[in-house]
Amino acid sequence: MKQQGQALRDFFDCLNEAIMRLVAIIIWYAPVGIMFLIAGKIVEMKDLAEVGGQLGMYTVSVIIGLLIHGLFVLPLLFFVVTRRNPYSFIGGLLQALITALGTSSSSATLPITFRCLEENNHVDKRVTRFVLPVGATINMDGTALYEAVAAIFIAQVNDMELNFGQILTISITATAASIGAAGIPQAGLVTMVIVLTSVGLPTEDITLIIAVDWFLDRLRTTTNVLGDSLGAGIVEHLSRDELQSHSPDVRNSVIEVNEKPYQLICQENDTVNHHNSETPM
Ligand code: ASP
Repeated sequence: MKQQGQALRDFFDCLNEAIMRLVAIIIWYAPVGIMFLIAGKIVEMKDLAEVGGQLGMYTVSVIIGLLIHGLFVLPLLFFVVTRRNPYSFIGGLLQALITALGTSSSSATLPITFRCLEENNHVDKRVTRFVLPVGATINMDGTALYEAVAAIFIAQVNDMELNFGQILTISITATAASIGAAGIPQAGLVTMVIVLTSVGLPTEDITLIIAVDWFLDRLRTTTNVLGDSLGAGIVEHLSRDELQSHSPDVRNSVIEVNEKPYQLICQENDTVNHHNSETPM
C-alpha cells in the first residue's frame, strides 16, 4: 500500500517501541518489587525460624524427590524397556545435564541435548528431531514433581489438611501445569498459580518459595532434560524395526546444518536448483 499504509506501519512501530520501553522499566523494577514482596511476607510471619525451617525441609523434599526420580525411576524405566545400562546412557548426556543446571532452561539446552544424544549415544537423528523439541516443550517431570511438592508445602504452611481427593487434584493439575510451562527459567513458578487455585490455596503464598526457587529451578530443569533424553532412547528402541525398514535419508545433524555459514547453504541450494533446472523432464 506504499504511502497509504505508512500511517498503519508507523502506528505499529510506535506501539512496539512503547511496549519495549514498558517491559524494560518493569524488568528494571522487578528485583525491587520481588524484594518487597518477600520482605512483606517475612514481616507477616509470626515465627520466622519456624517458617525458615519449613522452607528448608521443603527444599530438601524437592531435592530428594528429584534425585529419586532422576537416579532411580527414570533409569529403571529405561532399563525395563531397552534392557540397556541406563547409567552409561546418562554418562553420554553429562554435558547437556550440566548445561541445564547452568541455564535453568530446557529450551536453551536443546542444541547440546541434540549433540549429546546424536554424537555420544548414537541415537537416530529421526528420533531426536521429533522427540527432543516435543519433550523440551511438554515433558517436564521435574517441574510436575516440584509443583506438587510446593502446593503441599503451601497447604501445610497455612495449616490446611489435604484429603485424598485434593492430593489427587494437585497431582493432576501439577502435571497439566508442567505441560503448560515453557522451557525457560522459573516458568514453573508462574504455572504454580493453576495448581494452587485448583485446591483453593492462596496464590500470594508463592512469594514464600521465590527465595529458593532459583536453586530448585536448576535441579528440576536437569531432571526435565534427563527425562526427555531417556525418552528419546526409549522411543528409538521401540521404533527400531520401523527405523531399519526406512532408509535414513536424513542429512547431517541439526547442529551441523545450523553451523554452516548462511552463504554456504545458499550456494548449495543454488547448485541444486541449477542442476534441477538443467535436468530434462
Ligand atoms: N526451567 C524449567 C525448564 O526450562 C521450567 C520450570 O520448571 O520452570 O525446564
